[in-house]
Amino acid sequence: MNIILFGPPGAGKGTQAKYLKNKLNNYQVSTGDILRDEIKKETEIGKKIISCMNDGKFVDDEIINKLIKKIIFDKQKKNKLIFDGYPRTLEQAKNLNSWLTDSDQKIDFIFFLNVNKNIIIERIKKRKIIEKRSDDNLETFIKRYDTYMETTKPVLDYYSIKPNFNEIDGGLKITEITNKINSFLEV
Ligand code: AMP
Repeated sequence: MNIILFGPPGAGKGTQAKYLKNKLNNYQVSTGDILRDEIKKETEIGKKIISCMNDGKFVDDEIINKLIKKIIFDKQKKNKLIFDGYPRTLEQAKNLNSWLTDSDQKIDFIFFLNVNKNIIIERIKKRKIIEKRSDDNLETFIKRYDTYMETTKPVLDYYSIKPNFNEIDGGLKITEITNKINSFLEV
């Protein structure tokens, strides 16, 4: 089963993706984690993206596409993908769609965790303390949130008309969101 978790930064996608990965024995595909790993390992890609990530801007589609394509065509991961933080642009969504078709896969569920800025700001403050993420300062967060709102609206429009699109109130408690996701999965 392939799933997309969609929503603004701090909506809880990562938490639900980890839960689903364990429950379904799938792979979590978090472009944010993959990119942070490239920076940590000081790879060529890492060096290219560091300033852009710290500025809260999106990384170039070209880089994202290269990283994601490899995962989609990995036979071991076929139909076992939980996308978290991807796709974020309309081009990424369209590329994903064509690669899934080419590899004889599809998206089974799209979960949109919808949550307002104030709730997310409180969460980011807490997460900064717990995970000590370098891109988690409030200023960067606000830029990331605004970039998301500007750039991701077309992606939301693209997915919201699909029959497997489900909107969930991301302001709910973690367990309540998990329960809602489970109720959709078991339909
Ligand atoms: P995240 O951990 O998903 O909130 O992502 C952290 C940062 O990584 C974002 O603010 C972007 O700079 C970058 N990023 C993550 N995923 C993507 C993506 N799919 N497309 C472009 N940039 C991304």
